[in-house]
Amino acid sequence: MKLSDLRSQCLGILLKEGIERPYYTIDLILSKTLGIERALLIAKDDMEIPTQKCVGILSMAEKRARRIPLSYIIGEAEFYGRPFEVGEGCLIPRPETELLVEEMLRACPEASRFADWCTGSGCIGITMILENDDLSGYGVDSSETALRWAVLNAKKYNLESKFKLILNSDPSLCNIGHESLDFIVANPPYIPSHEIEGLMPDVRDNEPLEALDGGEEGIDVYSLLFSGLPKFLKTGGILGFEIAGDEQAKLLMSIAPQDLVLMNKIFDYNGILRHLTWKKTVQ
Ligand code: GLN
Repeated sequence: MKLSDLRSQCLGILLKEGIERPYYTIDLILSKTLGIERALLIAKDDMEIPTQKCVGILSMAEKRARRIPLSYIIGEAEFYGRPFEVGEGCLIPRPETELLVEEMLRACPEASRFADWCTGSGCIGITMILENDDLSGYGVDSSETALRWAVLNAKKYNLESKFKLILNSDPSLCNIGHESLDFIVANPPYIPSHEIEGLMPDVRDNEPLEALDGGEEGIDVYSLLFSGLPKFLKTGGILGFEIAGDEQAKLLMSIAPQDLVLMNKIFDYNGILRHLTWKKTVQ
């Protein structure tokens, strides 16, 4: 089949189901599958695509029509300008999380050791190290499936020795050295349970619930982290959390332990209060 015909068939599949950004979606699928840069596809309309490839590409379009996230279909998501391998069982990196990386890089320029709690694909921790060569640290997650993606990504960037992965669901049982870290960053599950039903089906039916559902008020995991994490921080160390917004920020400020002092609030591209940072002080 000619590329132009394959493209129109795929577009038909996506348009029928009202998939947003259908042109972008199909071009990304074509570009990844055929190994042709997206901008160059336009010049290859007459290219003959082998049947086997066409079948694969059409089935990818059908998957997207069933609301499977595009990143899972192509097996990749971009974060901070770099590709990360993702698939079922790990949260897809979100652009607003890049702001947390930026803030931690800015707030901790002298840091050498850190942890990325609830690391998922590993995108936060790995990006931190790629942006600051002096850093090494831990990626911690409670999901073995998610950690498999983090392992792949650490390998992809040759960071196996600088980014150690730990399976842990309770920081009080984690044997990282006390007072050994300059900062800890976390993007835990923070969506209140009753809001899960209302999420886009792409997210709700495909991304891991354990990476999204933060319990009744969305703060269950923060409570666990607030009680378990400060002991790993040096005095003056920074804790940075991604959060759901202003209401949740108020809740978190009311349960934060005494030895953490609020440092900064970061708003995302939609004006939502998306990240909070705290500094550990001596009591
Ligand atoms: N920001 C994600 C979403 O809106 C949620 C990520 C999380 O719970 N940490 O789907």
